[in-house]
Amino acid sequence: MSDQQPEHIKFSAIPPEFYSDLTREPFDSCVNCGKNLLIPGTLYIIEKAIVQTQPHQTKNTIFEYAMCFDCWEETKKSLSAESLQNIQEYFAQRVDFKNRISDLKEEESMDKWLGSCIVKGKDRSELKEYQIACQCDGPYMAYHFLPYLISGEVMEELMELLSEQTLGEMDNFKKKLTAPDPDLEELFDKKKILMV
Ligand SMILES: [Zn+2]
Repeated sequence: MSDQQPEHIKFSAIPPEFYSDLTREPFDSCVNCGKNLLIPGTLYIIEKAIVQTQPHQTKNTIFEYAMCFDCWEETKKSLSAESLQNIQEYFAQRVDFKNRISDLKEEESMDKWLGSCIVKGKDRSELKEYQIACQCDGPYMAYHFLPYLISGEVMEELMELLSEQTLGEMDNFKKKLTAPDPDLEELFDKKKILMV
């Protein structure tokens, strides 16, 4: 196959791991504009931040949201250009996405795609905190740059690359989210949100 051919991207039904913990069903609306996300042809991303106890790996979702591409693009404009560039460089220097996609392209197992931190390589079972993200089209999830998992350690490193302005924008965005578990509200309040 020549390199000139358009890349074939695999899709599947959205794995339950990316369902909303509030409803236990797929996300159906954009956190920002309320658009129905489950109509085929509607592109959006899902992010969830999870804390995990050790050694028993009990997981709790701290925050979660789905956002349509239009709002995503709009939100990105509110972040500083410097912050966005820093994030891009951080990943470009540490993650070989091309290799990862070619290794995993036939896989549908979330254990393979989300089994370890894409930057640090640490196994998910060892993490106390991590964030997962995926990209969807209506009721389907794409297997490409996403889905991926980043560990709490990476989230902290990324925070340090962000400007005050960007951190402020992320805090504003957080006001739109609900903590899925009322018992975790205190942790939710303390937690910085990171959109990547
Ligand atoms: Zn939207």
